Amino acid sequence: MPHTYGVEWKMIEIRVRTSRRVEARDITEEVRRAAEGKDGCCIHLFSLHTTCGLTINENADPAVMKDMIDALGRLVPQDYPYRHGEGNSDAHVKSSLVGGSLTVPLSAGRLVLGTWQGIYLMEFDGPRERRIALTVVK
Ligand code: ZN
Repeated sequence: MPHTYGVEWKMIEIRVRTSRRVEARDITEEVRRAAEGKDGCCIHLFSLHTTCGLTINENADPAVMKDMIDALGRLVPQDYPYRHGEGNSDAHVKSSLVGGSLTVPLSAGRLVLGTWQGIYLMEFDGPRERRIALTVVK
């Protein structure tokens, strides 16, 4: 029996299909459907990949996420002479820069997000099906 330090775990897998090589895919509703009604203080989201990321940012003006993609593209160009031979080194670097996990509070079974906040899967080497482990933490 693994030691859980009194924390009860419930893991759910969310699958997201992306449609472009690079895109900011709003997954707020998928996460809401999977998480809401669960009994816990927060959810933890964990990407099971090395070429995408998870982030929270504005979901009101779509220009914000377009600017994010453009800015990351300037920081980490696709055509730099990387060593990794798969042609997706920019995606690996962006994945680590953005980060692969998030924690979001739950209150009375509802996600706690600011008015302008959305949860995004940042695709850097799509299109692909992406898997996210959602863990409800009590
Ligand atoms: Zn690679």
